[in-house]
Amino acid sequence: MKHWTIGVDVGGTEIKFGLFNEVLKEKWSIPTNVSDNGVHILSEIADAIAEKCRVMDISVSSLVGIGMGLPGPVLDGNIVKECVNLGWSEVAAAGELSGLLAERMGCSPAEIPVKAANDANVAALGEMWRGGGRSCTSLVMVTLGTGIGGGIVINGKILNGAFGCAGEIGHIICVEDEDITEKCSCGNRGCLEQIGSATGIVKYTKLWLSRSDMPSVLRQILQEKGSISAKDVFDAGKAGDEAAEQIIDRVTGYLGRALAGICAVVNPECVLIGGGVSAAGEYLREKVARNFKEQAFSGIKNTPVRLAVLGNEAGITGAAYMMISERK
Ligand SMILES: [Zn+2]
Repeated sequence: MKHWTIGVDVGGTEIKFGLFNEVLKEKWSIPTNVSDNGVHILSEIADAIAEKCRVMDISVSSLVGIGMGLPGPVLDGNIVKECVNLGWSEVAAAGELSGLLAERMGCSPAEIPVKAANDANVAALGEMWRGGGRSCTSLVMVTLGTGIGGGIVINGKILNGAFGCAGEIGHIICVEDEDITEKCSCGNRGCLEQIGSATGIVKYTKLWLSRSDMPSVLRQILQEKGSISAKDVFDAGKAGDEAAEQIIDRVTGYLGRALAGICAVVNPECVLIGGGVSAAGEYLREKVARNFKEQAFSGIKNTPVRLAVLGNEAGITGAAYMMISERK
């Protein structure tokens, strides 16, 4: 009977694996080998999976398949046109991994199905299956990390989009010119990522402080450490620092605005906030939710805004569920 599924979350520095039998039985990771333009990555993934199956005595016939999250747009559950973090240009990632596993496990590629999708999209699916969106079949998740990622799930399935770019919430242009000083990494100006990501929050905080003479603990931190983090800003806000509160109000205003726009189009059952910045917890959630409600039109105002809960297990969980749900 087929009951084992493996979820793989491929990042620029680490590849995470999760072995699922409805629940997460075991997780492990290997470093990402980005040498030679990432040409070894898929064979090292295949080695790691084949070895785990051998040790756990998991036969090919008991494997549902492998789901894989990749840090770039993915077409047809398989093809990546470009993955900058991995050094890849066009790679048929799922097909190649299936072939590599078949070689190692002595079967045909058809017996080891592999499906790939964008990492932020599979994270959203993971949160729907086992996380903050557990009661929902449609949701929008925004991941606030170094950049901003996002994923959209509709009727229990990832919305990949025609070019694999659905859910790229970070590049919605919504930031006023006065709040930024440079262009986004994508080449445009005013993307949500420029103010709402951890990097963006730090840049905006420095800009805000340079234009104001309001006393703030953030000035001391900058002076003492020579740098500041998004966490410093949220900690200061939580402690009642007025400058930090004004900065966070502005940042969460933009997050609320972008999410209100997305929800007007998608109308999901809930919105989830994940990623490293979401460690700011209820303090952040409440502000985003309030700003969302203020800027959302009446029909979607009551969409719940919640925190994601799976942390860095969201990727492996969603990747596995992508395969499990195919069979249902
Ligand atoms: Zn951008």
